[in-house]
Amino acid sequence: MKAHHKLLISLVLGAVLGIIFHQYVQNPFVTTFTKNVLDPLGQVFLRLIFMIVVPMVFTGLVLGVYQLSEHHGLGKVVSKTIIFTVLTSAASVIIGITLVNFFKPGVGLNIQDQLVATQSANTEKIKTNAAQAKSAVQSLVEIIPKNPIDSAARALDGEMIALMFFALVFGIALSRNLDGSGGIIKIFEQVYEACMRIVAFAMKLAPYAVFALVFSSAFKFGHQLLVSLALYVGIVVLGLLIQQFGVYSFLLKSFTKKSPIEFFKNCREVYMYAFATASSNATLPKSLEAAEHKLKLPKETSRFVLTVGSTANQNGTALFEGITVLFLAQIYSIDLTLAQQVQVVLMSILAGIGTAGVPGGSLPLIVILLQQVGIPAEGIGVVLGVDRFLDMCRTTVNVSGDLVITALVSGNKKS
Ligand code: ASP
Repeated sequence: MKAHHKLLISLVLGAVLGIIFHQYVQNPFVTTFTKNVLDPLGQVFLRLIFMIVVPMVFTGLVLGVYQLSEHHGLGKVVSKTIIFTVLTSAASVIIGITLVNFFKPGVGLNIQDQLVATQSANTEKIKTNAAQAKSAVQSLVEIIPKNPIDSAARALDGEMIALMFFALVFGIALSRNLDGSGGIIKIFEQVYEACMRIVAFAMKLAPYAVFALVFSSAFKFGHQLLVSLALYVGIVVLGLLIQQFGVYSFLLKSFTKKSPIEFFKNCREVYMYAFATASSNATLPKSLEAAEHKLKLPKETSRFVLTVGSTANQNGTALFEGITVLFLAQIYSIDLTLAQQVQVVLMSILAGIGTAGVPGGSLPLIVILLQQVGIPAEGIGVVLGVDRFLDMCRTTVNVSGDLVITALVSGNKKS
């Protein structure tokens, strides 16, 4: 059986059993079983992911930025690529955050009350975090770390963005090393690959963890959880459609004078491939072929932009991350301050650059984003069961974004 089928079954089983047992929420046997068997199982899975997040995010971002800045010869192509990557990612995160704030899919579960009863320690921590919330200006200043080692050590306690900033600067600096930074880059590539292998191993435990995490949530919150989850899926899909047909059409029309409809038609096969594989990297050969033969974009530009973009430009993922974090904040009744929402936007954009173009590549980063703004990481279990479907959708938008940026960077040039 395929991994995503197992995940879906775990989600359904966890949810159905959790809802059935919801009526026994006061029963000491069920509560003890949840607390001593299911909760630790979920924790083991989450800790495996936490374990590799710091090295993975650091090396992933350094490599992404290094690749982007390395090609000095490409001058204008590189700067345009960076500008359009940041612009399209920012647009997608803003769309996501606006939708989730408007529809509020996670509001109304009233989990806060139950959290007070069952997770008072966690609630206290959340409240302390909220009380210590900094002003927007201070949060922006503190993006520059005083000591990156210290930021790495406290990455899971809210210092991740400072570490990301250091990785950005470090990647640019490495790319400026005229004698070559090949050695250290090779080491970083190997560290990154090892991290991805550990994620793959953790994912083997995911079906059990999803069952445990979803059961615990449904047990505590009842059927209302499923209603919220369905709304959340709908909102992610709506956001992706707006990005794909609204933002991309507008950009294509404004900067290339190409007909967006023609453009999308020429990319149909690539979209299907991205949807089926849920991997930007696996779709790269198809994108290259379409850029050259169907869209007739210049070869050098498309090779550069598409190759780097398959890892460093993930608009759909950025949108999904913004929505997911705010949805889970709503579920846990956590009011994020404006500064924290700005942080989510910035981190989602950066996370899009640091995410591997493989199925589920963004999941470890979601866990970090949650941690950053004081949302219990267990929340990831709520969305994992529907993740494969959303992954297929967001990957399609990721790949589409790479092709759109290639067209924008090329302007009206032909191959
Ligand atoms: N699967 C996505 C991609 O390959 C990454 C993710 O969002 O998990 O683009």
